Parts: sequence; C-alpha cells; structure tokens
Amino acid sequence: MSLAKPLHDYSVAEASAALAAYEVTSVDLTRALLDRVKQHERLGAFLCVDEDAAIRQAQAADARRKAGDPSPLLGVPIAHKDIFVTRDWPTTAASRMLEGYRSPFDATVVTRLGAGTEQQPGAGMVTLGKLNCDEFAMGSANENSAYARVLNPWDATRIPGGSSGGSAAAVAARLVPAATGTDTGGSIRQPAALTGITGIKPTYGRCSRYGMIAFASSLDQAGPMARTAEDCALLLQAMSGFDERDATSAQQPVPDFVAALKAPREGAPAARPLAGLRIGLPREFFGEGLGADVEQAVRAALAQFEALGATLVDVSLPRTELSIPVYYIIAPAEASSNLSRFDGVKFGHRASDYADLADMYRKTRAEGFGDEVKRRIMIGTYVLSHGYYDAYYLQAQKLRRMIADDFQAAFQQCDVIAGPVTPTVAWKLGDKADPLANYLADIYTLPASLAGLPGMSLPAGFGADGLPVGLQLIGNYWQEAGLLQAAHAFQQATDWHQQAPAL
Ligand code: GLN
Repeated sequence: MSLAKPLHDYSVAEASAALAAYEVTSVDLTRALLDRVKQHERLGAFLCVDEDAAIRQAQAADARRKAGDPSPLLGVPIAHKDIFVTRDWPTTAASRMLEGYRSPFDATVVTRLGAGTEQQPGAGMVTLGKLNCDEFAMGSANENSAYARVLNPWDATRIPGGSSGGSAAAVAARLVPAATGTDTGGSIRQPAALTGITGIKPTYGRCSRYGMIAFASSLDQAGPMARTAEDCALLLQAMSGFDERDATSAQQPVPDFVAALKAPREGAPAARPLAGLRIGLPREFFGEGLGADVEQAVRAALAQFEALGATLVDVSLPRTELSIPVYYIIAPAEASSNLSRFDGVKFGHRASDYADLADMYRKTRAEGFGDEVKRRIMIGTYVLSHGYYDAYYLQAQKLRRMIADDFQAAFQQCDVIAGPVTPTVAWKLGDKADPLANYLADIYTLPASLAGLPGMSLPAGFGADGLPVGLQLIGNYWQEAGLLQAAHAFQQATDWHQQAPAL
C-alpha cells in the first residue's frame, strides 16, 4: 500500500492491513482523524469528541497488537451514533431531554466493537466520539436534532439524510472510516445513499438492541456504515450475534461475512462473478415519484450487475405504497410507549419549576422533547387509544404481515431485490418543512423494515447537481452475506464508492 495516501483516506480494510504490517500505529491514525474532525467541525457530524479518551484507547490497542493480538479491527477508529448508550461519553439521542445524561453501562454493540468484557474481548476499535442524528432517531434529514444541523459534505446547503445523518456525513467526509447507525425505517440506508457511502441494516434480531435507545422496538436495528461492502462486513462480524440481554436478538449462527464476501459463487466464472444471481426489480419501486436522475443511475448500476453475470427479473411488491401509513402508525405507537420513560424522574432533563408531580411531568416533557417527537407521541397515543385501536393499529399490524408475505412471494422468483433507496438526491436544508413530505420520501426503505429483512445501500453513481445516488439491495432473512457479496462484486468493478466530496 502506498504510504502517500493520507491517513484519513484509509478504509477500514486498509487501516487494518497497515496496522497489521506495523506501517502505522493506532495512535497515528487516531491523531490524524481527530485533527480532521476538528477541521470539519462545521459539518455538525459530531455531538461529542473526547481526544484524551481516544488516544488512550489507541495506546491500549497498539499495546494489544504488540502483544500478538491479530484482531482485524484492533486500533481502527470508529464513532457511534448518539443513540447507543456509552459509559465514557454522554448520550443524548440528540434530544434536550437527555442533555448531560451519562449511562451507567455500554450498549452491547459498543462493547463488542470496543474493549469487550472480561470473558469476551471486543474488536478493539477506537471510539472518537458520538455522532449527531435526528432526535430519538425520528427523521429523514437530520434536521430534528436538538443540537445542530448536519451538513451534507457533498454540498453544504443540503441535508445528509437521517436519522443517522452524523454517521453518514462523518464517513463521507473521511472524518472516520466507519460509524454505527440504527435503522428503524431507513435510517442507515437513506443517509448512506444521500452521502455516497455503503451501509447495511441487518435482519431484525441480528445485532443486539441492548443499550440502543428504543424508538420502535419491533423495527429498530443497528448496523455499520462505511465506505465499502468489505468494511461493512468487517464491522457486522463484530457487531452481530445473540445477546442474552436482548430478548429479540436471534440465536442464529453468524457466518464469516468477510470470507463469504470474497468467496466465489459456485460455478461462476471469474469474469462473471455474479452468474446465477437473480435480482428482482419490484415494479412499484420504479413507478411514479421516482426522480429521473435517480432512476437513470440505478438502472445503469443494474446493467453493471448484469455485466457481472446477474439476471434481472420483474417482481411485484403490491403494498409498497401502504408501507408509509403502516409504518407511520406502528412506529409512533411503539415510540409513544417507549418514550413514556422520559418523565423527569429517571433520566436527563427535569423542569426546574413546577407545582406538583403531574406538573413536573408535563413541563419536563414539554421542554425536553422537540416538535417531531411530540407529534409522534401524540399520533402513537391516538392510534392506540380505545376507540381507534382496531381501526388503525390493528389494521396496520395486519398489513405489516401482508407486506412481509409479499416479499416471500417475490423471493420465489429471485435471490435479492434491488431498487432505489430514495426518490431524489439530497434536498436543500429546510426544503421539507412539512413532516408529510419527509414521510413520503421513506417509501423505498420502509417495506424491508416492516418485514424485518436485511437491506443495504451502496453508491451507484450521481444524479442531479452531481449528488450521490444509492442502490438498495434487499435480501431474505439472514442473507446479509449474499447482499455483501453482490455489493462487493459491484465495488470491485466500479469506483463510485471511492469518490470523495471535495472538502
Ligand atoms: N425516516 C424514518 C422516520 O422518521 C426512519 C427513521 C429511522 O429509521 N430511525 O421514522
């Protein structure tokens, strides 16, 4: 590897190789990235950075390596979406409600990527700090953060997507080679698409939700955001697996994602590594509402998949449009219940001036929550109320099952499903003031979320104004390895994932 490459440009895999060859130390890498984070503070990607803590972890990683630990991620820097609770950094979920909050424990994903436990050493990554996001992960533009807007590194007048907008902007701007994100209805895939990086939302249950501040528990999943499919595979490996602290984490074997990503498909010649792969294109993903620029980039990427040996087949997901009302009933319903814990007693903010207990609750919640969070709590409370439960919540649950069934019908005809991630490229800051306009832009990511299926976004080219376009791949349950393999083959043949914004 050429040492001429600046350290902030190293991908996870490159950093891992350079560390293993003792070409760089974790302290070198960490210092270089901390400098860059400071230089690009105005992007608003980070909510907190702790330089001393980062250097200390880097020193520990270098010592572990000297002692012979060959862990591939040891000493590679990362940052976490501020939805994961951490003992060593404040955790806010980008909400005033949790201003100054310190968790007494680390989220499982943070532990696994970091130092680990006594019984089970972690991957040894170095945490630089916590990343901005939409308040309690509710949003599609990162404009719902109580602290700062995040700017899109490709064009500072535009949104980076949300809710994992800080994670996406930080990775795209080369402030950090990888970040964690969470995806309830698209929050990993959508910002990845709008900033030109790669991200994967695993199957529901693949990664532990322990210590991930709950938004909609039946949908929330953690996942990696990085520049390449290979980097995502490296991270997902460390993040995945059963956790007795999360009753919905699956007792499912975790394959070797990196090996699977590089393994040739059975019977596929080297020039056509995806021979035999059937990619289903849901016709509802290519209909009205899809921007012509996005469609063009997505179709060109699909032609590249064909050149790599895959075949494209037409499929249908007939309830795609219904995903929006279904999601925007179920997610707020669960949120209204999850967020009842923020009452001024147990965590974070408490109103300072109140008459009695009820008044304290009311004032605390009025002061602590932002508008979008309040809107969701109200919608959620409404759809769960006695008179409306059957009409809304129950209907939504029935449709959710039908949406999942539609995917199973489609997977009779194909191995993976592909389409756009978003209808348009990143829009201008402030352009979608109407909450409904934000909700509608989630149309292509919500179906896989409701079904609990794994989905990923990878850079597929550029659309209007030279802004990145993402391609979405959706797999059947537990088929992350197949998605990563297809994405990796595409990235071996294209260089969209290597394009960087001029900063
Ligand atoms: N944009 C969706 C919402 O606002 C999804 C958010 C998410 O995945 N966390 O709910």
